[in-house]
Parts: sequence; structure tokens; C-alpha cells
Amino acid sequence: MAARPTAAPPSTSPRLREALAALPGYRPGRPAPTGPDGASYKISSNENPYPPLPAVLEVVQAAAAQLNRYPDLTSADLVDALARALDVPREHVVVGPGSVAVLGQVLQAVCGPGDEVVHAWRSFEAYPIVVALSGGTAVGVPLGAGGRHDLRAMADAVTERTRLVIVCSPNNPTGPAVGADELEELLDRVPDDVLVLLDEAYAEFVRDPAAADGLRAYRHRPNLAVLRTFSKAYGLAGLRVGYAVAHPPVAEALRKTAVPFGVSSIASLAAVASLAVREELMARVAALVAERERVAGALAAQGWALPRSEANFLWLPLGEGAEAFAAACEAAGLSVRPFPGEGVRATVAEPQAGDRLLGVAARWRAEHAS
Ligand SMILES: *Cc1c(COP(=O)(O)O)cnc(C)c1O
Repeated sequence: MAARPTAAPPSTSPRLREALAALPGYRPGRPAPTGPDGASYKISSNENPYPPLPAVLEVVQAAAAQLNRYPDLTSADLVDALARALDVPREHVVVGPGSVAVLGQVLQAVCGPGDEVVHAWRSFEAYPIVVALSGGTAVGVPLGAGGRHDLRAMADAVTERTRLVIVCSPNNPTGPAVGADELEELLDRVPDDVLVLLDEAYAEFVRDPAAADGLRAYRHRPNLAVLRTFSKAYGLAGLRVGYAVAHPPVAEALRKTAVPFGVSSIASLAAVASLAVREELMARVAALVAERERVAGALAAQGWALPRSEANFLWLPLGEGAEAFAAACEAAGLSVRPFPGEGVRATVAEPQAGDRLLGVAARWRAEHAS
């Protein structure tokens, strides 16, 4: 047989959108390294250390037998279960394959080329990426003291071009939640035709009674939408389910911008099953909150000045030492998340991981205390 003629190599490659050139890729947390004793802990991605509950696993296994079928387009059972659990109308609930995907739907719904999106910075690294993908311009407003959102500066940053204000509470990666009062003040100042999105990926870990509660605030604010996820407190990060709660015009727009059949039947059933065993899951969350307070208290006793965390992670403001600290963690079998020049984010997980982190942190202080 004659050899197939090969096509001439292209002189140019296909034209890609310019917005992509400037985009950093999303950086996932590193896998767990192996420590000197063979043990290792991945505390770089804010995952839940507990495996799925048996009741959830059973549903997942049974659902696998139906994989030849498409899922229900609207995930109606999950939407119903969420509406009941959250005490909101079902028309207000939109689910998607992870809350980052729902965030993408929000951008698709409100933001086009030339539009501006105000968010805090440093905050969740997905924000500038999804904004750039939409063709819009991300306006990062520096955090204030203590790793907190500076909501007044964010309100000041709103212009006629602003289509969306994203508030991350608790803030990833620094940990503080925004206060209910300061959120109301922001909402009073942002024009009614600008959507405010409250990203509450860690809502279930919040214990400060003065913290904002998106589900309470959105009821009297037609321009406030709430974003939540099953990835953190509910421990379903691998299945990809998140949701938004918003008033009908916004919720309808989010349904229009969804990828059809985005939430798999397995993910949807697992989320419904998780809501049914919510109390058991929230007991795990309470244990993680107790562990957070233990580790944060011990770090403070070592002399660390940490921002107040209301989430399942702690922020060590190491500045230029971030990468060296992360390397020391790695040598001890811990993968943390360094932000070069800024700090290190460490997930609250197994107590053994917390003990190791405390060991590395104590040695660091002994070596670096001036
Ligand atoms: C983890 C996280 C999410 C959740 O992402 P999923 O896509 O639901 O897994 C959303 N927002 C923030 C700030 C997060 O840290």
C-alpha cells in the first residue's frame, strides 16, 4: 500500500481568542508527598478528609447501573431537595457541575466584552480566569487588614461598566467571613441593576454569629445571588455539584447559560442522599471546626498572627517565606498551597495532619524568629 500523503505542516496555527494568551491556568492543589515515615496528607485543596458515608456510596453504586441513560435535564429531584432544605422556592435554585461551573454560568449571563467584574484580591483564583474567559475585565480590589474584604473600597470600584460584584465569604485563601452589616452596606451602595454574587463555598464552617448569611440576605435583595457547593462540607468534590440561589430573572438566565445535562445522575443522586444525612455530615463539619480552632489556637500560641478563619483552612501570612515553608511541609509529608510572596493556605483535615503542620510551624518560628 502506498503511504498516505502527509499534509504540509501548517504555516500558522488556528486563531485563538486573544483573552486566552494572558490567562493563567487554574492551579490545582499538589498531590500529597510522602513523608519521612511514609504517611502523607493532602491539605492543599480544602477537601473534606472524610470518605463518603455508606448511605451515599450505596446510592452512587446503584446509580452506576443506569449510566446508559441521560440524567434529568433540570436535576429536578435535587432542586426540590435543595429548595426544601434551604426553605427557598424551587424556581430560585439552579444546580451545575460544581459551583465554579455555576460561576461560569453567572458570567455568561451578565458579563460580555468591556464589562467589569469587581472582586477582592487575593481571593479565589478562579475569579480572574472566568472573568477573562467571558471577555470582561476583572477589577481586583486589595483585601483590607486581617485578610478581610474591603467592601467599602469594592463599592467605590463600581462604575457604569460594572455588571457583577463577587464577594467570597469566607474568603479563600485568607479565611475571614464578611459581616452581615457590611454586606448590607455594600448592597445599599451597589446599583440595583448590578448583580452581587456571594460565594459561600464554606458557609457550613462559619460560626461567627455576626457573619453574613447569603440565604437570609438574598430574600429582600433581588440583585443578590448566593453560590454554594457540595464539594467542601458535603465531601463530594469528586462528583462536581454546586448551586446558586437567586431571584427568578437571574435564576432563569443561569438555566439558559448552563451546559445541558451538566450534572450527572450519579452526582445528583449523591447530593440528594447527602441532604438526607445532613445531620451526620454536619457533625463531621463540627469536628473540622473544632480541629480548626485547635490548630489556630496552637499556632497563635507559637506566635503566629493568623487572620480569623471561618472556613476549613488556615492562612499563614509568610510573605517571601511562603515557598520555603511549603517545601518544609512537603518534607514532612504535607502538601499545602503556597502563594509565592504572600502566604500558605493549609486545609484543616485529620488531626495528624494538623499536628504535623504545628511541628513544621514551630520549627519555622524557631529558625526565623528575629
Ligand atoms: C472550593 C471553592 C469553590 C467550589 O468549587 P466547586 O466547583 O463547587 O468544587 C467555589 N468557590 C470557592 C471560593 C472555593 O474555594
